Amino acid sequence: MNFESFNFHPHIAAGVRALGYITPTPIQLQAIPFILQGQDIMALAQTGTGKTAAFVLPILQRLMQGPRGCVRALIIAPTRELAEQIHEAIGGLGQQTRLRSVTVYGGVNMRPQVQKLRGKAEIAVSCPGRLLDHIRQGTIDLSRLEVLVLDEADRMFDMGFLPDIRKILKHLPAQRQTLFFSATMPDDIRRLAHDILHTPATVQVNHTMPVTTISHALYPVEQHLKTPLLMALLNHTDMESVLVFTRTKHRAKQVAHQLGRAGYSSTSLQGNLSQSQRQAALNGFRNGSFKILVATDIAARGIDVSRISHVINYDMPDTSDAYTHRIGRTGRAAKTGDAFTLITREDAQMVRAIENVLGEELERCTLQGFDYTANSFHTEHTRHQPQRHRKQKKAKQAKAQRSAASKRGTQGKAISQVAKQRFLHASHLTGSPTRNSRDSC
Ligand code: AMP
Repeated sequence: MNFESFNFHPHIAAGVRALGYITPTPIQLQAIPFILQGQDIMALAQTGTGKTAAFVLPILQRLMQGPRGCVRALIIAPTRELAEQIHEAIGGLGQQTRLRSVTVYGGVNMRPQVQKLRGKAEIAVSCPGRLLDHIRQGTIDLSRLEVLVLDEADRMFDMGFLPDIRKILKHLPAQRQTLFFSATMPDDIRRLAHDILHTPATVQVNHTMPVTTISHALYPVEQHLKTPLLMALLNHTDMESVLVFTRTKHRAKQVAHQLGRAGYSSTSLQGNLSQSQRQAALNGFRNGSFKILVATDIAARGIDVSRISHVINYDMPDTSDAYTHRIGRTGRAAKTGDAFTLITREDAQMVRAIENVLGEELERCTLQGFDYTANSFHTEHTRHQPQRHRKQKKAKQAKAQRSAASKRGTQGKAISQVAKQRFLHASHLTGSPTRNSRDSC
């Protein structure tokens, strides 16, 4: 089945083509027909499944008819980054429609938002807090609203937004279509869905199962050797774009700093950054000027960088759902990806929980040549490929060698030498993991 069967307006079909989408993903196949019929839906879908286009496309189709210059669709998302990504998806898919969307989130000046909200947008993509500010100040008119989307509802709940959402709902026309997207369905979320949806169609893909195109590998290691092992993995694997997860924002900053000092092209995304710093980090990662982004779960929520090749869990996530969310950043929409997780003895229970969810035992890998017995720093630059990567890397070796040869004597060499030197002397994280002192960010 292809997109033509949805009979989208030619201007929308042109957007689909421009983004290179050929086959609808399972969530799109399931959800789009219901939404086009005007039905409410409850969709269980995690990020990476194509859920954004699943609601954006039928919304654009609806808005092609009817008035312009008033907000007719409202999309509520938990984070600024996710709001920006949805806004970008609307811009891409709707590039020929002349429909306009505006983002509404905190941490930036209200005035430009107010101006854009005055008769210049048909779609508002907002985070709950700032949206509520606009509602209270009367700077957003939602009286013409036709469609409401709650995206990543479970995350909004995790982040404490449920009371705000209930307040927002009181200001929306009761006569509307509501689309509810969540990766999981805990009781509070189920109650909220029950309260606001009218005879919804339920659609579900891969409940909490990660996309199958991802291969998972566990790397057992002592806590104090995590940073050298991370660097060794970075050195030994062809990585296009790497997202590294840490448990706390302090550690995200620290690891990014260590990688930077060792000559790796890296930056961090964590809650202590200003909005402009966050945007700079994200843009740099998106456009490839940073190859490695070190982030906490909350900071990385909803990040959509289509070419993330590897997710590395520097710290084990706290729940199997968090694992699913993290690795959902790679292998997006039928591309392949690798998820590496550095595990210590303390993580045994969580490993079992994740294996239960995945329904398989995950591979334990050892990086050959890496000194797992080192005390505070690693002393020998490892030269061997990890066992599991050998086969898949063979074909790429010739290419890498040619490229390395051509770089000799260039800046590429200078950087790798610096990285190597720093790596040899890397001072890295000592002290016990702060398992119970979880940072929010
Ligand atoms: P999402 O789950 O909405 O975050 O989407 C994940 C990624 O899949 C994004 O980079 C989308 O641009 C991409 N995508 C969505 N739908 C399709 C499709 N039908 N074909 C190819 N890529 C898609």
